[in-house]
Amino acid sequence: MNFTELGLSPKVLEAVTASGYTQPTPIQEMAIPRVLERKDVLGIAQTGTGKTAAFTLPMITLLEQGRARARMPRTLILEPTRELAAQVEESFNKYTSGQKLNVALLIGGVSFGDQDMKIARGVDVLIATPGRLLDHFERGKLLLTGIEILVIDEADRMLDMGFIPDIERICKMVPFTRQTLFFSATMPPEIQRITEAFLHNPVRIEIARQATTAETITQLLVASPSDPSQKRETLRRLMRDAVDVKNGIIFCNRKSDVQIVWKSLEKHGFSVAALHGDMDQRARTVALDGFRAGTMQYLVASDVAARGLDVPDVSHVFNYDAPHHAEDYVHRIGRTGRAGRLGTAYTIITPADDKNLAAIEAMIKRSIDWLGPTLADAKFEDAPRSDRGRGSREDAGRGRGGRKPRPVKEAQNEAVVSVDAAPVVDEKPKREARPERRDRPQREELPRREERPQRKEQAAQPERTQSPRRHHQDDDGPTPKGLGDHMPGFMMRSTKLK
Ligand code: AMP
Repeated sequence: MNFTELGLSPKVLEAVTASGYTQPTPIQEMAIPRVLERKDVLGIAQTGTGKTAAFTLPMITLLEQGRARARMPRTLILEPTRELAAQVEESFNKYTSGQKLNVALLIGGVSFGDQDMKIARGVDVLIATPGRLLDHFERGKLLLTGIEILVIDEADRMLDMGFIPDIERICKMVPFTRQTLFFSATMPPEIQRITEAFLHNPVRIEIARQATTAETITQLLVASPSDPSQKRETLRRLMRDAVDVKNGIIFCNRKSDVQIVWKSLEKHGFSVAALHGDMDQRARTVALDGFRAGTMQYLVASDVAARGLDVPDVSHVFNYDAPHHAEDYVHRIGRTGRAGRLGTAYTIITPADDKNLAAIEAMIKRSIDWLGPTLADAKFEDAPRSDRGRGSREDAGRGRGGRKPRPVKEAQNEAVVSVDAAPVVDEKPKREARPERRDRPQREELPRREERPQRKEQAAQPERTQSPRRHHQDDDGPTPKGLGDHMPGFMMRSTKLK
C-alpha cells in the first residue's frame, strides 16, 4: 500500500515524502484511515513500529480544518516521560513544517511561565506528561473542554509508573464526545479496564509483539565476577575489544549504578553521557542530544529513562547488569539493529544472574552464546553480593555450565531469531507475564498530589518518571514506610468490642 491511498491531506503527504518514508508501516496502514474516519483506535504496538506517525499524520490532516482558541487546546497527547513527550513534539514539528499549527509541550522540570504563555495563545496540539498537565489544570490556566482528540500513548508504561489514576482523572475532564486513540505495548487487566471505560467502540489494531529479538542483532553473554570494580573492568574490556563500535548504550538496573559507571568510564577516557530519572531536565536533554548528535559515543542509562527513545542508529548495547525483567532485555537490545542495520548486544553475567538469564532465554526462546568462558568455566571466586534479592550463591553457574563457549569471530557474525512485527487486526490481546499485583507497590506509595513539593521546588524536582514497582527493585527509590504494602493477618481479624 502507498501513503497516497490512506486519505492524508496533500500537505501531510508532502511532509511524508520529505521524511523519506516510501511505504506506510503496518500500524500506519491500519490506523490512519480509521483515525481519519473519527473512530476510536486501540493500538497494541510498541515503539519502533511507526506508531507515532500513525497518530500524528492523521491528526495533522484533521487539524487543518478549524482554529485553536486561547487556553482551549484542540488535541491532547499524554506521554509517560518527558523524553517521549519531546520526541512526539519533534515528530509534529517534522510533519508540520510550513503549516500553521501550534504545538505546546507541557513537561516537568521546566518553568511554568513559557508553557502558560503558549497555552494562552491557543494550542492545536498539547503534548504533556500527566503530572504537569494536572498542575496546569489546577492552576486554572488550562481548559480541557475543547479537546477533540485525546491520545494516550505507552499506556502500560503509565501503569508501571503509577499514572493510571491521573489518566482516569484526565479522561473524565475532556469532553465525552472526543475521539480517543490509545496505544499500549501490552494489555494487562488494568489497561484493559481503562480501555473499556474510556473508549467507544474502538477499532482494535494489534501489531504482534517482538517477543524475540531482531535478526540483525548479535547477542553475547560475558561472564564476570560480581564485585563492582571487577565488573566495571569487564565492561571496559568489552568496550575496548568490541569491533566497529559507532556508539553504544550501557544499561544498568539502578540509577545509582548509572551514575557510578558513567563517572568511572569518563575517568577512563571514554566519551560518555548518563541518562536516568534523577537528573534534572536540562542535563537529560544535553545527554540525549549529545548522544544523538554523536558528540558522545556512549550513553549510560536506566531502563525507565531509555525506554521508547528513538535513537535510530545504535551499533552496540552493553548490559552492565542483566535486567530483572526479561521484557526489558528485549527493549534494551532493541535499541540496536534497527531498520535492518547490524547491531551487537553484550550482557555481563555474574554468578548472581542465573535466574535473570534463564528468564531472558525463556522469553526470547533461545539460548545466548558466551563470548569467552561460560560462567561455570570461569569459576569466579564470587565476591560478597552487592545485588539485593536475586538468586543465591549456590545458584552460581548451575544449569548453565554445559554449553561450550564459541570462538569470538564466529559468534559475532551470527544472526539470530526474529519475529516480525506482523500486523494482526481484531485479535484477542496476548497476556504478558507480569508480576502479581500484590508484588507491585500500590499507587498510594507515591506522595499524594497535595503532599508533593510546592510548585517552586517542583520545577527543580525530577518528575515522577520512575515506576513505583521499580523504585523498590531496581532503581533505589524511596523505602516503604512501616510495613509498606504488607498487612499482617492479625490486623485484619475482626474483634468484638465490649
Ligand atoms: P515510532 O515507532 O513511532 O517510535 O517510530 C520509529 C521510527 O520509524 C522513527 O524514527 C520514525 O521516523 C520511523 N518511521 C515511521 N514511519 C515510517 C515509515 N513509514 N517508513 C520509514 N520509517 C518510518
